[in-house]
Amino acid sequence: MSLNKELDFNNKIKTSVNYRNFPMVPRVIYGKGSFDQLGDILLAKRKNADAPVIFLVDDVFEGGEFESRIPAIFNDLILYVNSEEEPKTGQVDALVSEIRDMFSEVPSGIVGIGGGTLLDLAKAVAILYTNKGSAANYQGWDLVQKPSLYHVGIPTISGTGAEVSRTTVLMGPEMKLGINSDYTTFDQVVLDPDLTRGVQKEQWFYTGMDCFIHCVESLRGTYLNTFSQSYGEKAMDLCEEVFLNELDPDEAREKLMMASWHGGMSIAYSQVGIAHAMSYGLSFVLGTRHGLGNCLVFQHLKDYYPEGVELFERMKKKNDILLPENLCSGLCEEDLDEMCRVSLGMTPLWENALGPHWREQINPDMLKEIYLKI
Ligand code: NAD
Ligand code: ZN
Repeated sequence: MSLNKELDFNNKIKTSVNYRNFPMVPRVIYGKGSFDQLGDILLAKRKNADAPVIFLVDDVFEGGEFESRIPAIFNDLILYVNSEEEPKTGQVDALVSEIRDMFSEVPSGIVGIGGGTLLDLAKAVAILYTNKGSAANYQGWDLVQKPSLYHVGIPTISGTGAEVSRTTVLMGPEMKLGINSDYTTFDQVVLDPDLTRGVQKEQWFYTGMDCFIHCVESLRGTYLNTFSQSYGEKAMDLCEEVFLNELDPDEAREKLMMASWHGGMSIAYSQVGIAHAMSYGLSFVLGTRHGLGNCLVFQHLKDYYPEGVELFERMKKKNDILLPENLCSGLCEEDLDEMCRVSLGMTPLWENALGPHWREQINPDMLKEIYLKI
């Protein structure tokens, strides 16, 4: 939302509000086993037998039973991608040129299968195929000029909300920053909770907490409106059920998948906050993955999100999670400065957390004090 000030007929200043008009995923299929309908969904989108569908799949599925369920036909390409490191602008550029070199026809679509890493890669490849230059040129807000290729997102771990968001977060030469645009959002999402079966306990918690932290930061933010609040509260309730109750694993998978969706919807109209801003700095300098990075920062944000941190500690205990320690204590001043630079560059996140005068309330020394506790 932004405020426009102009003069009315009587030369008095009138203020009008400009509401954001953001895109939503136009098609979504939900349910255990719904992945098996992907072949039919894609059939309707295939331009011809020479225009392939490119499947970008987390390599955790390589060689497993799931491989045979991927509906690749004609000259479709399955590319397995490792998600140990978060996606990079250079990696997107390389994937796009690989696809261009392999096929003379424009692909019928890009399908991302995996966690936030693979979903973001699929979004970025779909954008960069139709927009000139490097992915790094589009990091920021509304810099993408042309519609992307048809792209489908299929999460296999729940929490990031990347399946529903209008951003793809990439590590670039200068910044870890999203390509935020109307062309980023998926054209189709397949939500099949069974696909999240193999996720390890710690990763389930870290990515799940990403959703929980989205909710806290959105619900405690200055950008909050009733639209965001309604999604954020639902996602928060689902997170509490999943991480504080004794749910049957099937039910937990279903509920966390929907929590992720609602959490993502909640930040669509608001923003995340301090944990995310600081986690971006951590990730840029140390390569710490998003979910874990958020947890590491969030535990030290009692001054800003007291109830959220208390709930987080209860969830951590209930799920027997021990977070790594002493990651930053030995860092040199230059690294800490770099973390602060990246973090303080996230203007909308700070503004959402602390209001328009956030610069008067936070400074690099305050951030360093928090980083040094991690
Ligand atoms: P991830 O994609 O990095 O995957 C984490 C780990 O889980 C990997 O080792 C992966 O192999 C494994 N994994 C995934 N599915 C599995 C399965 N079914 N069985 C076994 N292992 C499985 O994790 P994530 O937390 O979902 O994503 C983090 C990324 O998402 C970061 O790059 C972050 O920047 C991005 N992100 C994007 C948005 C957005 O709106 N675009 C929002 C939040 C985070
Ligand atoms: Zn997040």
